[in-house]
Amino acid sequence: MEKNIVLLPGDGIGPEVVGQAVRVLEAAASAAGASLNFTERLLGGCSIDRFGTAMTDETLADCQKADAVLLGAVGGPKWDDPQAKVRPEQGLLGLRKGLSVFANLRPVRVHPALVSASPLKPERLAGVDLIVVRELTGGLYFGQPKGRQMVDGHEQAVDTLVYTDEEIRRVVRLAFRFAQQRRKKVTSVDKANVLESSRLWRKVAVEVAAEFPDVALEHMLVDTASMRLVSSPAAIDVLVTENMFGDILTDEASVLAGSMGMLPSASLGEGGAGLYEPIHGSAPDIAGKGIANPLGTILSTALLLRYSLNLPEAAARIEAAVDRVISDGLRTVDLGGSLSSKQMTDEVLARLN
Ligand code: NAD
Repeated sequence: MEKNIVLLPGDGIGPEVVGQAVRVLEAAASAAGASLNFTERLLGGCSIDRFGTAMTDETLADCQKADAVLLGAVGGPKWDDPQAKVRPEQGLLGLRKGLSVFANLRPVRVHPALVSASPLKPERLAGVDLIVVRELTGGLYFGQPKGRQMVDGHEQAVDTLVYTDEEIRRVVRLAFRFAQQRRKKVTSVDKANVLESSRLWRKVAVEVAAEFPDVALEHMLVDTASMRLVSSPAAIDVLVTENMFGDILTDEASVLAGSMGMLPSASLGEGGAGLYEPIHGSAPDIAGKGIANPLGTILSTALLLRYSLNLPEAAARIEAAVDRVISDGLRTVDLGGSLSSKQMTDEVLARLN
């Protein structure tokens, strides 16, 4: 089996973590009999410096043709001017749109050995193993009309929260499919007591649930969900929600795991290339030092193997190897240790088989 992967290392620590993660991805794929062709392209600040745009049309076309895309991170102080017309994150948003990835998936597990790195009490973290599925291409961030106008002498701003039943159905269905492979429970988060879009969301969620009789559906208001995520996170299996609620809840959920450097993400559509990236940014404060935690990107390659290359055993082997390095007490600087990115990756590779 031959597959094409586009690498978008990006800025800051992006190239450092992607460079290391590719070593693990290659090893796991080749052990599973798959051969991977890698194409590297610029995205973000580095693309602005070279081409004057955060993503060229050629880069997007290469990503659209690929089986999967692995991204590091984009941005940094050099391109941070808020007045600038061309900004690194335009590359990221353009890429998500261009790949039609409508669901962002963030698994959060708390390794028992890392409980002390989390701000939450240990007893609340036992057994936490959840996935947040966030709708990524609709809702308030994209709805029209949006803008400013003068009304009766006052400046007024408008954003529009709009969803179609189809946009809701495809992402809720995806959440149910994930739940089928897991603990068979979907928590659908909305604000149905106030918002019309949420009432449609809830109606569609009920319809989708009828297609999955083996999966339990619970509805939860977003304000309650924000409390439950920190008061009883172990009770959540798959949480699915609209774009803005998901934006906020995914960051809240990431705190459970203690370090930003540990968490992977996947953005998926219907068929087409999936987009895989760690949840952290370009970490300019530690860029170039070779000390970034590569585990979030390494775990993202496990998601890539599972969801884009259909190699679940290879994915599970990477996840087990990462579990073992943590159990064995190996730590990068962000987790209070002293291993470099490369040394940590060497340890993962040593435990892959
Ligand atoms: P950040 O995630 O880059 O860094 C936050 C803190 O976490 C820093 O102290 C950093 O050193 C640490 N950190 C992050 N990843 C780490 C890792 N793998 N190993 C060890 N420590 C790690 O967030 P920020 O500082 O708010 O943003 C920095 C830049 O990254 C900004 O330009 C921002 O726009 C960009 N950013 C990009 C993305 C993305 O590409 N998806 C996401 C968030 C932020």
